[in-house]
Amino acid sequence: MPEIPDLEGYRSYLNARLPGQRVETAEAPIPWLIRTGGDEFVKRMPGQVFEPIERVAKLLIFPFESGDRFVVHAMLAGRFQYVEPKHRRRSVTSWVLGLENGMEFRYFDQRRMGRMYLIRPEQFDEVVPRWTEMGPDVMDPQLTPEKWLELLKKSRAQIKSVITNERIVAGIGNAYSDEILWEAKLHPFRKRSDIPDEEIIGLFHAMRRVMEWSIPIVTREMEEKGLPPNHYRKHLRVHRKADDECPRCGHRISEITSGKKVTNFCRECQPGLER
Ligand SMILES: [Zn+2]
Repeated sequence: MPEIPDLEGYRSYLNARLPGQRVETAEAPIPWLIRTGGDEFVKRMPGQVFEPIERVAKLLIFPFESGDRFVVHAMLAGRFQYVEPKHRRRSVTSWVLGLENGMEFRYFDQRRMGRMYLIRPEQFDEVVPRWTEMGPDVMDPQLTPEKWLELLKKSRAQIKSVITNERIVAGIGNAYSDEILWEAKLHPFRKRSDIPDEEIIGLFHAMRRVMEWSIPIVTREMEEKGLPPNHYRKHLRVHRKADDECPRCGHRISEITSGKKVTNFCRECQPGLER
């Protein structure tokens, strides 16, 4: 699932290319991923001029000069392409926009789970699911350590579930939650209610540090190598690094799988349950 650094990478990459471009043609080979209607998309997109792209939580928002907004939640497997039309189209391509500069902006989705909405700015509440229930975005400047403490007080659950719950704070997924908890030296399965306030504040700063560290790495990789079929995750220190050495203490990285979710952490420098 694309997470904030991946989406920020897309945003920078696409912001260097799309704003000011006029859409000349629109197609929707897999129309039903566009929840507001594939026909409507095909009809309404030609003539639209891109403005700078925004990100809120795991959503990318493409604003147009007309005021329309195209909102994309890529879910597990949605990916973008910015390519010449001769570039072979994948069978799972959901929509294609032909641009006035001759390039195509496309979206494909192996799992066909992504969701898109073409809306007016005032329709977010009504059309985008859970829009109004979402907690603040991780990078929201109004999210202060005090506010963070207050938000997290609402839950007594395991800390990893708390920070990946978008009703509490929006934008953290499975991979980066492992990185954030490693950075904060917190065991992922410790209960929020057993963690003292000062460590919760420490977690806030760890979260911001992980984002500020990883966003430029992912952005640079995307700029150098292009939009990825898979996310750039090599820089991660614990997630999917089971049995590697912890970069901080050298202890072996542990892995626990629950459902389809893999959690990696270091038992040595993220002690918790047994204390
Ligand atoms: Zn360690």
